[in-house]
Amino acid sequence: MTPVSLTRTPLLLCPQRHYHARRIYYLSLEFYMGRTLQNTMVNLGLQNACDEAIYQLGLDLEELEEIEEDAGLGNGGLGRLAACFLDSMATLGLAAYGYGIRYEFGIFNQKIVDGWQVEEADDWLRYGNPWEKARPEYMLPVHFYGRVEHTPEGVKWIDTQVVLAMPYDTPVPGYKNNTVNTMRLWSAKAPNDFNLQEFNMGDYIEAVLDRNLAENISRVLYPNDNFFEGKELRLKQEYFVVAATLQDIIRRFKSSKFGCRDPVRTCFETFPDKVAIQLNDTHPALSIPELMRILVDVEKVDWDKAWEITKRTCAYTNHTVLPEALERWPVSMFEKLLPRHLEIIYALNQMHLDRVAALYPGDIDRLRRMSVIEEGDCKRINMAHLCVIGSHAVNGVARIHSDIVKNSVFKDFYELEPEKFQNKTNGITPRRWLLLCNPGLADIIAEKIGESFITDLSQLKKLLEFIDNETFIRDVAKVKQENKLKFATYLEEQYKVKINPMSMFDVQVKRIHEYKRQLLNCLHAITLYNRIRCNPSKSFVPRTIMIGGKAAPGYHMAKMIIKLITSIGEVINNDPYVGDKLKVIFLENYRVSLAEKVIPAADLSQQISTAGTEASGTGNMKFMVNGALTIGTMDGANVEMAEEAGEENLFIFGMRVEDVEALDRKGYNAREYYESLPELRQAIDQISSGFFSPRDPGCFKDVVNMLMYHDRFKVFADYEAYIKCQGQVDQLFMEWWWWDQQQQQFSCWTPSSVPPGGRQQPGPSSGCTLPQASCQQQH
Ligand SMILES: *Cc1c(COP(=O)(O)O)cnc(C)c1O
Repeated sequence: MTPVSLTRTPLLLCPQRHYHARRIYYLSLEFYMGRTLQNTMVNLGLQNACDEAIYQLGLDLEELEEIEEDAGLGNGGLGRLAACFLDSMATLGLAAYGYGIRYEFGIFNQKIVDGWQVEEADDWLRYGNPWEKARPEYMLPVHFYGRVEHTPEGVKWIDTQVVLAMPYDTPVPGYKNNTVNTMRLWSAKAPNDFNLQEFNMGDYIEAVLDRNLAENISRVLYPNDNFFEGKELRLKQEYFVVAATLQDIIRRFKSSKFGCRDPVRTCFETFPDKVAIQLNDTHPALSIPELMRILVDVEKVDWDKAWEITKRTCAYTNHTVLPEALERWPVSMFEKLLPRHLEIIYALNQMHLDRVAALYPGDIDRLRRMSVIEEGDCKRINMAHLCVIGSHAVNGVARIHSDIVKNSVFKDFYELEPEKFQNKTNGITPRRWLLLCNPGLADIIAEKIGESFITDLSQLKKLLEFIDNETFIRDVAKVKQENKLKFATYLEEQYKVKINPMSMFDVQVKRIHEYKRQLLNCLHAITLYNRIRCNPSKSFVPRTIMIGGKAAPGYHMAKMIIKLITSIGEVINNDPYVGDKLKVIFLENYRVSLAEKVIPAADLSQQISTAGTEASGTGNMKFMVNGALTIGTMDGANVEMAEEAGEENLFIFGMRVEDVEALDRKGYNAREYYESLPELRQAIDQISSGFFSPRDPGCFKDVVNMLMYHDRFKVFADYEAYIKCQGQVDQLFMEWWWWDQQQQQFSCWTPSSVPPGGRQQPGPSSGCTLPQASCQQQH
């Protein structure tokens, strides 16, 4: 047999052939891309040219951009991280591919009706998607169900049902570097003979209608953030993306002249040198047993060799320590859907446990703790354990989170293989989250330090030189005020809500979750309201509290939190005593394109999760790079942000992880705080008595009951520190406001120089006083 000589496409026509190095395959069930038009123009350096051209046509580019649908193929931070990484890897010129699912319906659109969240299907492909290209020539089969046969020639997985995976490619341009990578998303297609053999001619119509069963696999994104829902369709989605992607990877490896090749059989020794598979959480964890299955059953690689190859190829990113989010699939589901993978997982677990047993003889409890299989009346597969044993690297997403991963969640595994565990603190792309969404700020930064910060944010340090440059500071303030005005106008046009553009824009936008503690924010809003009501003639620092985010449709408490926010807003916003001093706005349908509008307009960024619960957060970084100040706990990447910027430049409050642990040992008793803090008690009493829900006084009984008797996230324990810290925020805003007015050429006492909340001198006296005993609510 002569060696195969392949005729190759000339390099110029096939830029991927430039990539001789290891290729990165970023596997993710979510890619929260948002819009593409402006990002493409920014990264290609074409924005000004396009702007001009469109203007010449008598059109407005910004207006056109608003027509594009968001690609909402993600829930929140995890999916947005995948999207940011694609941009950054293309910008770094890395040979990286994003692999995921082309959901026909992305994250639902959120409507607020009568203060409640109502979900609407996100039919984002209705008018077509100009950014994608179907590649039917690369369509691949994915097998489900069936049974396993052990034969002398090896193991066979037979009698399976086949679903086809149709790839759609979306270009991912790097920032002005002549690189375009690919995001390949798979769409499920029924084979033409799907179910046909099971029906006689009379049932032909039924058989065609049943094609939906197969095609449902890529129908809709599961709308849970940080929560495991053990539905079979979700498991099918996870295997679907893994099986299609691994076939694609192996096809590419085999066709690469750099993978060592035998005329008869591919040699996979060099596979890990050419292929890196990064698992975005455990969602694509089936990559590990699937790679084993292909190597052992199909490619006839020796088991132990295959295991070494698999481990050197795969790496796992952990995204959460919340137990309700960890994937634990029932063994019974695997038996039916993926019988061969179940066998492989059992075998891998056996090897793993044998090793542990040898190292810790007699330590039965350790074996139980470290097993991939959880015993019990419902046997389950712990996907995180599978990922740890099947990867050469395991990382957390912020320093504090990686420490928790090592010291508690995977403590035993860390003891066994400490060298595997790493930290990779999350980041964001400065292209979308600064240049694209805040061109005014990017311009004045570039004027001072050049444009290198666009691809290297550490360059922003050079701005320290201008810290006392009053013109520069005034320009920054001017851009912020312009952004605030623009956002206020948007809110008024889109939602008919009027806000005071001179007020402090206090923003908390993220998925609604108990651990993120939107309820703490609510208690602050109520406290401010009560203070205004008690002392209507006193001046207050005017605030517009904006809260936005989607609740998972099945998450009752999160939906109640939305109803509480809108109910509080209803009362406060319509109280004539309050006027311009305080508004509480729920931002409907928070998504990437709304983030791009609200974040550049924010004065204050709220990052107030219970210490130890938010793995990293990336919203925190978007706000900081847009010049908002942060009020936050020592959680996630807030810790490193405080270290980088100096703790004195953030409003850090509340319990540290150690304090939370100490309180857990002592026993958290919400009632103690309720009884000793009069303003807290008043706020809770108002919520529970129906002050904010006069038509349904018992509306929030579940919320109050949770806060008082089973609050896992200890809202009351941080209440006092939070309120105090918000007082410091008020004071700084007021001082700043006065300084800013002075800068406006000493215009003295024109009406516009009256603070928007009334006159008030800066200084310690701007703190709040406790409500008087006689000060009762009048509603
Ligand atoms: C960045 C981003 C998130 C993540 O925000 P966190 O505050 O880190 O939870 C969620 N949703 C959207 C639309 C985002 O852009």
